[in-house]
Amino acid sequence: MQDFSPSADVVGLYSCGPTVYSFPHLGNMRAYVFADVLRRALRWKGYPVRHVTNITDVGHAVADSDTGEDKLEVAAARERRSVEDIAAFYTKAFFDDLAALNVLPADEYPRATAYVPQMIEFAARLEERGVTYRLPSGLYFDTSKSPGYGTLAMMDVAGQREAARVYYVEGRKNKTDFALWRAEEPGVRRAMRWDSPWGWGAPGWHLECSVMSMALLGEHFDIHTGGVDHRELHHVNEIAQSEAYLDDGLPWVRYWLHNEFLVLNNAKIAKSAGPVPRLADLTEAGYHPMAYRLFLLGGHYRSQLDFTTQAVDAAQATLRRLIARVEPLRPLPLVTTFEGAAAGYVEQLDAAISADLATPKILAILQESLRDPDISQEGLRVVVAAADALLGLRLADLDLRDVDRRRSVSDLDPAEVEQIERLIVDRTQARKERDWSRADEIRAELEKLGVQVTDTPTGPTWELR
Ligand code: AMP
Ligand code: ZN
Repeated sequence: MQDFSPSADVVGLYSCGPTVYSFPHLGNMRAYVFADVLRRALRWKGYPVRHVTNITDVGHAVADSDTGEDKLEVAAARERRSVEDIAAFYTKAFFDDLAALNVLPADEYPRATAYVPQMIEFAARLEERGVTYRLPSGLYFDTSKSPGYGTLAMMDVAGQREAARVYYVEGRKNKTDFALWRAEEPGVRRAMRWDSPWGWGAPGWHLECSVMSMALLGEHFDIHTGGVDHRELHHVNEIAQSEAYLDDGLPWVRYWLHNEFLVLNNAKIAKSAGPVPRLADLTEAGYHPMAYRLFLLGGHYRSQLDFTTQAVDAAQATLRRLIARVEPLRPLPLVTTFEGAAAGYVEQLDAAISADLATPKILAILQESLRDPDISQEGLRVVVAAADALLGLRLADLDLRDVDRRRSVSDLDPAEVEQIERLIVDRTQARKERDWSRADEIRAELEKLGVQVTDTPTGPTWELR
C-alpha cells in the first residue's frame, strides 16, 4: 500500500465473484470481506474507487474443467428448478450475506449471461490473432503462444501440467490450454446455450472476467482480487487471454491480491465436497455476523485461517465487549479518510493498513487506545471512528442487544438461571439493608452476564440484553 499509486483518477478494482449454484460458504465470504478491507484502505488513502464484482451464472463447469456440465445446470437438475431460478435465488443469498457482513456494495455486479455476445467477440478476436485452435469440443486458447504464461502463479508450467484440476481433453495441444468456447456435444442440448462461430454452446469460465472487467473498468485497470485458488489457474488464464487480446505489450492489470483460504478444523473447505457452514448457520447458533467479520479480521488475509468453535466464540465475546465499551462514546464522528493531520493512534492505524492491510494490528491498536487512561474522550472518538472506517465492524451503530439478540432465557442452562436468580435475591437483600455499594456491585456482575434487571413495584424482573 505504501508503494501503490493509482494509474488513473479512479482506482479500478475487480473482484472475482461467486458462482451462484449454491449458498456461499464462510470461506467464500472471506474473499469479499478481504476485498472490502482493501476498498476501505483505498478510500482511507483518499483514492476514489470503482469496484466491480461479477456474478458467475454461466460458464463454470463442474470441477473447474473445460468439458462437462455447467455448475448451474447441475444445480437446476438437482433442485428441479430452472437455471434462472437457481441463479436468482443464490445471488440473493450472496447479497444478503454481503449486507450482513457490512461489505460496502460494489458499483457493479455484472452477470456473465448478460455479456455472452461480448465474450464471443473477444474470443473471435483471439482467433484472428492466431492464438487459438478449434476442436470438436470447442475453441481453445493455445498457451504456448502466451509469453510468460503462468508467471502470476510463480510456478513452472510443468508443475501446473500435473495439477489435478487440469483435465484431459481430447486433442488439446498443451495441458494448460483452456476453453474459450465450450461447444455442445452432439446430441446433448444444454439448458444455457448460445450460437457462436464455433457452434452452439457456452463460454469458457475465464472469459467472463476479462470481458466484464474491461467493459466496466477499461482495458487496463489497477487491482484484481480473488481467493488464492484463482492464482494458479483462473487468473493465469485471464491474464493470458487478456494480454493476447490487447496485444499492446503492457501488463493487463497492475496488482493482483489473493486472500488465503479459510480452513475448517484444518481441512480445506470446498462447496463441491458437501455441506459447509455458512453465515446463516452461525447466526442461527447465536453469533452475530459482525463476530464472524471480527474473527476474519483477526487473521492476516495472506495467512490461512482456521475456523473453530472456540475462535468464533472468542470473537463473539470480543465483539460484545467492544460494543459495550464504545456505546458510551457515541455518536462517533464521521471519519473515512486519513487526512495526514491526525497524530498518535490514527497514525499507527495508517501505518498498519499501509503495511499490507494488517487488520490484526489495527484491532490491537484499537484495543490499546480503549484502555489508554490518558487519551481524551474526543481523541478516543476519532480513533474508534478511524479504526472502524478500516475494519467495518459497525462500531458507530451496532446495538449491544443485537449482538446477543439470539440468546434467550431458554438458551441458558439451569445452573446459569440459578446463578442469576441467586444474584438477584442477594441484590434485593442488599437494597433492603441499604448497602448500595453491594447492590451496585451485584448489578455490575449481572451486567457482565448480559442480564438486565428492572425494578418494578412487584419486585425485580430480569431479561437478557
Ligand atoms: P466460487 O463461488 O467458488 O467461484 O468462489 C468465490 C470466491 O471465494 C473466490 O474468490 C474463491 O477463491 C474464494 N474461496 C473459495 N473457497 C474459499 C475458502 N475456503 N477460503 C477463502 N476463500 C475461498
Ligand atoms: Zn474471475
